[in-house]
Amino acid sequence: MSAIKFFSTNGHPERVDFRQALLVGQAPDKGLYMPEEIPQLSQELIRQFPKMTYPQIAYEVVKPYLGDLVDDSALRAMLDDAYNFEVPVQRVYDEKYVMRLDRGPTCSFKDFAARLMARLIQYFLKAEGKSILILTATSGDTGSAVAHAFYGLDNVKVVVLFPEKEVTERQRRQMTTLGKNVFPLAVEGKFDDCQALVKQAFVDQQLASLCLSSANSINIGRLLPQAVYYFYAWSRAAPARKVVFSVPSGNFGDLMGGLLAFRMGLLAKRFVVATNENDEFPRFMKTGTYEPIRPSKNCISNAMNVGHPSNLARLFALYGGRMDETGIVSRMPDMQAMNRDLYAVSVTDEETRRTIREAYSRHKVLLEPHGAVGFSGLLRYLEESGEDCPCVSLETADPAKFPDEIVRATGINPPLPPAMARLDELDEVYEKIDGRYDSLKGYLKRFVQAKV
Ligand SMILES: *Cc1c(COP(=O)(O)O)cnc(C)c1O
Repeated sequence: MSAIKFFSTNGHPERVDFRQALLVGQAPDKGLYMPEEIPQLSQELIRQFPKMTYPQIAYEVVKPYLGDLVDDSALRAMLDDAYNFEVPVQRVYDEKYVMRLDRGPTCSFKDFAARLMARLIQYFLKAEGKSILILTATSGDTGSAVAHAFYGLDNVKVVVLFPEKEVTERQRRQMTTLGKNVFPLAVEGKFDDCQALVKQAFVDQQLASLCLSSANSINIGRLLPQAVYYFYAWSRAAPARKVVFSVPSGNFGDLMGGLLAFRMGLLAKRFVVATNENDEFPRFMKTGTYEPIRPSKNCISNAMNVGHPSNLARLFALYGGRMDETGIVSRMPDMQAMNRDLYAVSVTDEETRRTIREAYSRHKVLLEPHGAVGFSGLLRYLEESGEDCPCVSLETADPAKFPDEIVRATGINPPLPPAMARLDELDEVYEKIDGRYDSLKGYLKRFVQAKV
């Protein structure tokens, strides 16, 4: 089987295979990698999904992108190992479901992507006897998911940048209590600043010897695994019917996973793109003009405080447009097709809190702020469209990560999941830098020296 090639959203002529796109993260022209062609799964195969386990479905979805790059039995073993936890599709009322993507080791949906990506990277590095440094920025949950996924591997070091004042104490502790090959770095600034620092390091030739790789949602290795659970949710909630998905969105990686699944043959009706008050995308859908929000707004769904989602470059590419990494649009996407597939909505903190309260009081379902943005967006869509069809809203984190908001809205102190049970007692180790690039570079240079 010949593997699918990946192109850069900024137009660089080079095409790479999955292995290279995975290991370098970002294209040399700062674009993001997208599959040149999107494989179709036959409806016959998809109809088998209700009888298949999560890892089995994952195999069918991911395999076509890898071709022969990964040995078949190795891939199956990686999938069994990565997805060894539950994925509940929980009924809220009628045919409205939330899919709980919060049962992995760090209790956010980012475990799905990080765990498979880490195993794939390890597979390729081992075969080649190489080592790399993963440099990643987090708005709260990526850092811990990535750190846990790579924890203890001897050919990978992980440096995680996080905005000092924008992550909750538990989110921070999930990164700073690991040690070993994990190096957390608190940045005086916002998530967007962290992301900009990371991007700059990637194009810095003086750091080339570190073999930097990104584990952000800009890495294609994070995107593909996120296509899987849409098929899974469909197979559990409403096989044979078309489903509306609602996706709480920050950097739009999760949404891109869904849209890839859609192009691969997923029976979806529409995707609700639910943002918090960082509403640059809903506004674009209304006005046709894209304006990043700088600085991004602080909302209680903190992992979605993104004023310029990097995956918009991919979204535009998928609809025939072109946006560069700074948000400049040089070719408009097909707005008609986008409007047919997507319903973009911005949800305020006040509505988010109300949704947490009402989901609990009416349906005894405990949502946290991100999942509540998704559910609130879904309710808005249903109200506006008057539709009544099966719907799946994604719950992307465990409520125990945000205890203050949950107590405030429901009076319930969410129980700590087993994966987080000892977190509050462990010692923390991390360093701090200001938001200047020179500070990051100084920090990273120590790794260059340590290597020789
Ligand atoms: C990262 C994150 C999101 C947003 O996902 P994107 O892929 O960045 O759009 C939503 N909820 C939680 C809990 C997250 O950690």
